[in-house]
Amino acid sequence: MKKIQMVDLVSQYEKIKPQVQTAIHSILEKAQFINGPDVHEFKGELGSYLGAKHVIPCANGTDALQIAMMALGLKPGDEVITPSYTFIATTEVIGLLRLKPVFVDCEKDTFNISPKAIEAAITARTKAIVPVHLYGQSCDMEAIMKIAEKYDLKVIEDNAQAIGSDYTFSDGTVKKTGTIGDVGCTSFFPSKNLGCYGDGGAICTNDDDLAKQIEMVVNHGQSKRYYHDVIGCNSRLDTIQAAVLRIKLKELDRYIDARRKAAAFYDEQFKDVEGLTIPFRAANTKHVFHQYTLQLSDEIDRDALVAYLGEKDIPAMIYYPVPAHKQKMFASLETSSGILENTDWLTKRVFSLPMHTELEQDQLEYICKSVKEFIEK
Ligand SMILES: *Cc1c(COP(=O)(O)O)cnc(C)c1O
Repeated sequence: MKKIQMVDLVSQYEKIKPQVQTAIHSILEKAQFINGPDVHEFKGELGSYLGAKHVIPCANGTDALQIAMMALGLKPGDEVITPSYTFIATTEVIGLLRLKPVFVDCEKDTFNISPKAIEAAITARTKAIVPVHLYGQSCDMEAIMKIAEKYDLKVIEDNAQAIGSDYTFSDGTVKKTGTIGDVGCTSFFPSKNLGCYGDGGAICTNDDDLAKQIEMVVNHGQSKRYYHDVIGCNSRLDTIQAAVLRIKLKELDRYIDARRKAAAFYDEQFKDVEGLTIPFRAANTKHVFHQYTLQLSDEIDRDALVAYLGEKDIPAMIYYPVPAHKQKMFASLETSSGILENTDWLTKRVFSLPMHTELEQDQLEYICKSVKEFIEK
């Protein structure tokens, strides 16, 4: 059996190696490292895949979120409603821009931000909502967009974990995640569902004016060469990364199928195991399984399980052990989050198993057998 990894990027690379090598080599030959043709091609190709009018590539997913908030004109002190149960980048940029993160609870089954909790947290200073499509499935975007409309709030989707997922509205309209709010942000960090071979990110929007603003912000606030209208930053996707992404974008749907197949096998094996709760499939969305995350009942010792799997050479991870509202970085902020019951519970009870595009049947069987051994012993 091949060694089991959380993410097996080497085996994935083996299958696209000739195309990747040709593409990178050609960029080296022409020295088109910045803003080369692949960057422009990729913008168009990702836009058509997602059904987004504008795609603006940038340096990473954290920048994407920061740039989106800058381009929307959010001002220090503005309140931004965000889940606490997410990767820190989502909430960190809110703090960095001196906006005020207002942490709200998630739903215990979907792990995603609770629309009810959002509405309860709205004040006269609330300006935006940042739903995070955690682990690969969409938040309840119909409910969130209704709230946003009712209170005139901007919606910035953190789509770093769910590229390729979608959401079906009650009228039957289907939209890809990241194209539903005012702006969608994604990351091409190597282990993400669409990952490059270094850092990368993108912002997408269907709003022409906002797209113009984002184009300025990513490039030193420049409206025309050497004329800088707003304070911006320097955030670019390298041509080499764009070339890799063009190749991998063609594989994305196949990658998603491979993840969903592995998840279906795990589900089947774990659905009747007492003490384990398999990932809930939220209504109206296609789960693209960035992570396969289980919940453990209170009786099961999570650390001992992870250690047991480690002894068997099975990596397992805890995403995330500390929710944002309990991180030291926010200790000095006056956060009015109160107690986030589901978030606190989940951070103590979840664990994630290996999930990637190259999992083999013998590996999956061995993982499931080992988890069950621990729980049933
Ligand atoms: C990975 C990730 C980010 C940040 O992406 P980087 O490219 O690493 O900056 C933001 N939000 C979420 C939910 C993520 O998983």
